[in-house]
Amino acid sequence: MNNIPQQLQQIHQQIKQACHAVGREQSAVKLLAVSKTKPVEDILIAHAAGQVAFGENYVQEGVEKIQYCQQHDVSLEWHFIGPLQSNKTRLVAEYFDWMQTLERAKIADRLNEQRSPYKAPLNVLIQINISQESSKSGIQPSDMLPLAKHIENLPHLRLRGLMAIPEPTNDVAQQEQTFCQMKTLFEQLQQALPNAQIDTLSMGMTDDMQSAIKCGSTMVRIGTAIFGTRDYAK
Ligand SMILES: *Cc1c(COP(=O)(O)O)cnc(C)c1O
Repeated sequence: MNNIPQQLQQIHQQIKQACHAVGREQSAVKLLAVSKTKPVEDILIAHAAGQVAFGENYVQEGVEKIQYCQQHDVSLEWHFIGPLQSNKTRLVAEYFDWMQTLERAKIADRLNEQRSPYKAPLNVLIQINISQESSKSGIQPSDMLPLAKHIENLPHLRLRGLMAIPEPTNDVAQQEQTFCQMKTLFEQLQQALPNAQIDTLSMGMTDDMQSAIKCGSTMVRIGTAIFGTRDYAK
């Protein structure tokens, strides 16, 4: 059973509706298909249906899929969206196009050193711990500008904006409050770095996509609604 193409179409429809409800163009919100734990066959099906950008959380799993696609001449855009340990930075620098979970200057330095100067710079997003949970990854909002200014001086990285994974809640008002805080931070970042290409606010997943779009998300990261529920036991 496979309905990835229909589910993709449905998501595009939902993005369109959420955009139009607040007067935004559908093209202002990019769809990242989160393929973690899913086989490369699912990625190829989604690609055949027009999807180009994919997100992976685990370095080794992501690199295997990227290598497979490269060997089969399937050119996709790959985003790393999981927590990254410093001993795994080289693979991310070598294989991925985007790194969305940057939270430490030391990791930024390593990625910059390890990114080939012959490749386009690695696009990076700073991950913000917007729900202020001590257990979650991301930096505190007050640490955003110092890290951003540090990244701005690294030639093989290109800072593109912010990313957040808020604490899950079904309370739509709470979702919107958190996402709007992200939007405010994003505008602060744009103002502080007027010469940088700060154009990406990555927020919104299967269960809170509408609120994220309402509050200005430019990239939603959708897994379950495209590929179905994940089985971590495999
Ligand atoms: C798994 C994951 C997603 C996708 O979540 P769904 O609820 O399945 O849409 C998005 N972003 C990150 C960082 C993830 O780890």
